[in-house]
Amino acid sequence: MDKMKAAILYVLNQPLRIEELAVPDLLEGQVLVKISASGVCHSQLNEIKGKKGPDKYLPHTLGHEGAGVVEAIGPGVTKVKNGDHVVLSWIKGSGINASAPVYYSGDKRINSGQLSTFNEYTVTAENRVTPIRKEMPLDLAALFGCAVATGMGAVFNNAKLKQGESIAVFGVGGIGLSAIHAAAICGASIIIAIDVSEAKLEQAKQLGATHLINVASMDVVKAIKQLTNDKGVDYAIESAGLKGTMEQAFEVVRVGGGKTILIGNLPSGQKIEIDPFALICGKQIVGSWGGETNPDIDIPKYVELYLSGKLKLEKMLTHHFSLGQINEAFNALESGRAGRAIIGF
Ligand SMILES: [Zn+2]
Repeated sequence: MDKMKAAILYVLNQPLRIEELAVPDLLEGQVLVKISASGVCHSQLNEIKGKKGPDKYLPHTLGHEGAGVVEAIGPGVTKVKNGDHVVLSWIKGSGINASAPVYYSGDKRINSGQLSTFNEYTVTAENRVTPIRKEMPLDLAALFGCAVATGMGAVFNNAKLKQGESIAVFGVGGIGLSAIHAAAICGASIIIAIDVSEAKLEQAKQLGATHLINVASMDVVKAIKQLTNDKGVDYAIESAGLKGTMEQAFEVVRVGGGKTILIGNLPSGQKIEIDPFALICGKQIVGSWGGETNPDIDIPKYVELYLSGKLKLEKMLTHHFSLGQINEAFNALESGRAGRAIIGF
């Protein structure tokens, strides 16, 4: 095997192109993984749409959550061996922070970050792979690389939500659904899902949301105040990536300790406005870096939760696509139809 198909971004706002790339030789600390499945995430949609600003790395590969089987290891790698099943994640764990690979399509250089997953194979750094038990289905394990790690991590690690507490989740795509499910596992008393899509809200209900707010037909702030006897919620998570919902998320947490956790990204340069007196009154606002996930500890924990039947990952997945349908997958994500889609190889 020395060639593989990969989806490549050549021009912003243009469909990805599927091309054959040469698989490079492994350098120190690099791992070659045959990818079984990759998650499709809003971060890549933002990259394709140029919302992260000018892209000096074009053309490049994409994708930052996946799962697969180790095919070969480079010098110095001790964390995994050939045949191991691994989760691939943009979030750094233990191991060598090896340099990013360079791929070639014919003579043309194709750039890559330290992890890309819209490829049949990936060359990545030892610290971007986490070995998992082989009983864990790889297509579902792909979600541990970003959506589940970030959404559940925001609840377990940022909020440290306790039984009986309340939470509102703005935007219930893959990350928001994971946050809702984590809150249900923690025994939250009120779990409010907020979105514009009835289909996603219905999915949120199946994963444990106790109340659904469709912003198309309800005043969110008023509705949350009513549900909480005017107090506000203990935690609000913003995973919609919108200025308006970030500000609302801050507005609906309770005075004296309520915590707003921002996960969504705004287009580069955009700002939010909040009332600083609310901070003085004890409201908090923090950002979450990948749910503050430690892959070495958290990913095996999610595997155990799934294998013990507590994690309903099947209910999170809405769409399956092949690599050849990658642009369709992004259309589904952009239109708001897809909660979490995966690309199967
Ligand atoms: Zn992601």
